[in-house]
Amino acid sequence: MDFNYSAEDEAFRSEFCRWLERNREFAVPALGPLADEDEVSWEATLRWQRKLSEGGWLGITWPREYGGRGGTFLQETICDQELERAGTGVPFTGPGMWLLGPTLIHWGTVAQKQRHLRKLLAGDELWCQGYSEPNAGSDLAALQTRAVEHDGYFVVNGSKIWTSLAHHAHWMFLLARTDSDAPKHKGISYLLVDMKTPGITISPLIQITGARHFNQVFLDDVRVPVENIVGQRNQGWQVALTTLAFERSSGQERIMTNRVAELAQLALRLTRNGHPLGDNTQVRQTIGRFATEAAAIRYTGFRQLTRQLKGLPPGPEGSAIKLSASELGLRMASFALEMLGPFAQVEQGDPFAADRGLWTRRMLEARGPMIYSGANEIQRNILGERVLGLPKG
Ligand SMILES: Cc1cc2nc3c(=O)[nH]c(=O)nc-3n(C[C@H](O)[C@H](O)[C@H](O)COP(=O)(O)OP(=O)(O)OC[C@H]3O[C@@H](n4cnc5c(N)ncnc54)[C@H](O)[C@@H]3O)c2cc1C
Repeated sequence: MDFNYSAEDEAFRSEFCRWLERNREFAVPALGPLADEDEVSWEATLRWQRKLSEGGWLGITWPREYGGRGGTFLQETICDQELERAGTGVPFTGPGMWLLGPTLIHWGTVAQKQRHLRKLLAGDELWCQGYSEPNAGSDLAALQTRAVEHDGYFVVNGSKIWTSLAHHAHWMFLLARTDSDAPKHKGISYLLVDMKTPGITISPLIQITGARHFNQVFLDDVRVPVENIVGQRNQGWQVALTTLAFERSSGQERIMTNRVAELAQLALRLTRNGHPLGDNTQVRQTIGRFATEAAAIRYTGFRQLTRQLKGLPPGPEGSAIKLSASELGLRMASFALEMLGPFAQVEQGDPFAADRGLWTRRMLEARGPMIYSGANEIQRNILGERVLGLPKG
């Protein structure tokens, strides 16, 4: 890969940096999708999305006619780099921009693209993802939610679980079984559902941190207009796979370098026997190792970008990045608690909690990325079978 940027790309970078400088006051810290509203308020997160969208800095590679910039993957990477350098990022307000948008661009009808894409970029309509069910997670095609066509509508019955931010969402993209007799991957359809439709009940699931990130969503005789199907009836699995391909690049890798820097700052602030922990050789070496791993993840991301720029389909890099970034996140959070010693047990809300309990919360949150977007065991299966050619487990 050539690490140099063209003059045109550098001009683009300067333009974005100037805009970022002017709008710095609106930027929210870069946090993972599991951040709770104690770290940054929902309003501030939405405001930052709106600012970026008004500036034309979201949907960089999306077509202009649907509110995108019609730019290149390299320009999108440049924006991500500069956001990261500024300690911020594209805020997570649900999977609309990240998963549904690119899926609709690929599979949606013109009417669906016109109806949804601009509102989604602007943060005017937020989305949630209705894939997982109580008995269908890693084995997603085992899903049991049913959609039966009647009078110009699909009538949907079933339940979805672990639905992130459903309580903020205006719409849900969901998978439902439209042919119960077909083999399990073949009878599924992909539907767009207005969350205001009668028959939808959202029940909160409280995380181990005490925050409310996800929900169980019950669907009882929910009527979805037939034109809200994406792709062909009974062939929603193909559409679902497109969404999953975008999901694999979970974005965790983008915050790793900043997380290492934060850990180093913590080591400099904490003292043991009158000396900063950052002076301790073992602490320095451990943080150095984290920094090396974060750099390796970043360069693996560049390999992925190279494939994209050459127009090649996604390779195994997504699985490798997802696996290593989520595990690095957990090890860094654990190490922060080790450095805090007994103070690590003092949680959010207690006056003795270091950084208002941030590190303990991060440690608890760090399990999430190891499960969502395809659990790490599944990523290991993918790498073992498809890259290393090992026999199926
Ligand atoms: C923070 C968070 C947010 C989420 N948000 C959403 C959302 O918005 N929408 C949505 O639809 N879902 C969401 N999910 C759900 C997520 O997609 C599922 O949790 C995930 O697919 C795993 O499914 P499961 O929980 O049913 O676990 P299971 O599939 O039952 O897995 C249990 C354990 O068995 C292992 N396992 C399963 N199959 C295999 C295998 N073949 N080989 C080896 N090991 C295996 C798994 O790795 C795991 O360790 C979210 C999950 C989390 C943690």
